[in-house]
Amino acid sequence: MTIAEQKVTLGFEAEVKQLLQLMIHSLYSNKEIFLRELISNASDAADKLRFSALSHEALYEDDSELKIRIELDKDARTLTITDNGIGMSREEVQQNIGTIARSGTRQFFEALTGDEAKDSQLIGQFGVGFYSSFIVADRVVLETRRAGAAHSEGVRWESQGEGDYTLESIEKPQRGTRVILHLRDGEDDFLESWRLRTTVQKFSNHISLPIEMKKEHHGEDADAQPEEYETINSASALWTKSRDEITDEAYNEFYKHVSHDFQEPLARVHSRVEGTNEFTLLLYVPAHAPFDLWDRETKHGIKLYVRKVFIMDDTEKLMPRYLRFIRGVIDSDSLPLNVSREILQENKLLDKIRAGAVKKVLGLFEDLAKNDSEKYAALWKQFGQVIKEGPIEDFANKERIAKLMRFNSTHSASDVQDVSFDDYIGRMKEGQDKIWYVTAENLAAAKNSPHLEIFKKKGIEVILLHERVDEWLVSHLSEYDGKHLQSVARGELDLGDLETEEEKQEVENVAKDFEGLIEKIKKTLNDKAGDVKLSHRLTDSPACLVTEHYGMSRTMERIMKSAGQFAAGGKPILEINPKHPIVLKLRDESNDSRFDDLAHILFDQAVLSEGGQLDDPASFVHKLNGLLQNLAD
Ligand code: ADP
Ligand code: MG
Repeated sequence: MTIAEQKVTLGFEAEVKQLLQLMIHSLYSNKEIFLRELISNASDAADKLRFSALSHEALYEDDSELKIRIELDKDARTLTITDNGIGMSREEVQQNIGTIARSGTRQFFEALTGDEAKDSQLIGQFGVGFYSSFIVADRVVLETRRAGAAHSEGVRWESQGEGDYTLESIEKPQRGTRVILHLRDGEDDFLESWRLRTTVQKFSNHISLPIEMKKEHHGEDADAQPEEYETINSASALWTKSRDEITDEAYNEFYKHVSHDFQEPLARVHSRVEGTNEFTLLLYVPAHAPFDLWDRETKHGIKLYVRKVFIMDDTEKLMPRYLRFIRGVIDSDSLPLNVSREILQENKLLDKIRAGAVKKVLGLFEDLAKNDSEKYAALWKQFGQVIKEGPIEDFANKERIAKLMRFNSTHSASDVQDVSFDDYIGRMKEGQDKIWYVTAENLAAAKNSPHLEIFKKKGIEVILLHERVDEWLVSHLSEYDGKHLQSVARGELDLGDLETEEEKQEVENVAKDFEGLIEKIKKTLNDKAGDVKLSHRLTDSPACLVTEHYGMSRTMERIMKSAGQFAAGGKPILEINPKHPIVLKLRDESNDSRFDDLAHILFDQAVLSEGGQLDDPASFVHKLNGLLQNLAD
């Protein structure tokens, strides 16, 4: 006997143990989901075999009728789920349901809140999969053999869902996988045939694979009857049916099957695209952002089929990254069946399918935005930050995506992002030709930015941008509907016709009085300020910082620096308010050291008021305290 054949006991990683414990406890009220997960795995295994057999017919081993069978044994108190799908090798068993936590496990634990109701939703998003068997079973045995492998290459995996599991080699003539659940005390419900049937039907009616259960015989000679099986699900791929044949419940169950989410989806689109490149799609918007929404490594949630044969799952080619939260199925009639995944990756048809699918998804969003504002608000709240990547990634649909975006603005007191560009344009002042925005690191800083003062005074609406992605967004979206998007904190402020000639003159009239002061501040702040100017954008604040017209914005610079990247945004321009008492005081200050302190404080408070960090906070505090001391004396 070689080592590989001996029975070995192996330990789960700490994280797997933790996951198991958590699942068993938090999911107890939802316990029948284990059936959905096991049937889902069996169905995936059949899909994989069907695909591999396209190029290796022999993998069918003369048994090409793929199916799932569910058996009960009341005496042994076991529930067994058998498939004749692709099966697993010993290495695969170890990799897939063995020692190591799957990618994402760590983030999952980080996302946990301790609130059981919330956490159980997270588990759903995480994909509970195979381990959910331990919710109802205190011992699980899995026997499997990879399609095409020798009968002697079967593997038995067994665990009680605690610290470890055993692996041993077995003889397994039938290809595929068998999962035997030894039910916990009190789970006898799952030994009732009717209970199982209704649960399986609820979860898996849409599965394209037949699910068989033993026919029940009643009466005296029940035991004498031969074993007969019947198919208990409808066994046709859901997306191939017409919309009016599918109930909401069936649609929602299918969503749970493809997404591993427990919750109902927010919205769906089921559509057939005709023409030279025909395909059917059934796509869903989840109600909640998955915990790994920001993980660059996550696989995309669209399954590609070709005439009902599953082709691939990691379909980055089928949805752009800004729609990475979409889940569902795309089934093409036009792609060739007998292709490898590698060739598919290069296939031009796939690009066309993707473009068509994106159109449908954007159409769904537009429909919600127009007809179901509550749902659209929920969608934007969950995925708005991701959709904002759209204009950068998907140039062709830039304008369409921009129309779907919602923002905070000075028009609305609410913290909900509910202002569209079209709303904004509808409220533009006579003579206003630009869409004004301010960027800041959070909503409060945006709302209170000194740059907004003149806009408030004139009643001009400003869009408040405060999410990280916004800086990238405005650097790629320079106009909407022919109107230029303009930062309130960049370059010379030009309000065009919105300022009267008199107002424009006002600052120039006093310019002479401040020439000396400006030169003096420039010298004093030589290291910090690129330039010093008189401002006409301030009414209440003494000073603010402005970026040069083509420079990197101050918010962008902060974001990059906080991400540890090198960012040289150049020195900002300090604008001072000629009407402010502090500025007037500074102009009349004759004591050099007090002037110096006051000028630095003026600059530093402008940094603070835009939510920035001081290079030398101690020196600021020291200077400020000096002033306060003067007051106290
Ligand atoms: P997921 O299905 O989301 O990948 P699971 O925990 O349900 O997660 O399953 C883990 C892996 O184990 C699967 O990806 C698959 O590779 C393998 N697996 C589970 N069940 C089966 C089965 N019945 N046949 C073949 N492989 C299986
Ligand atoms: Mg699974």
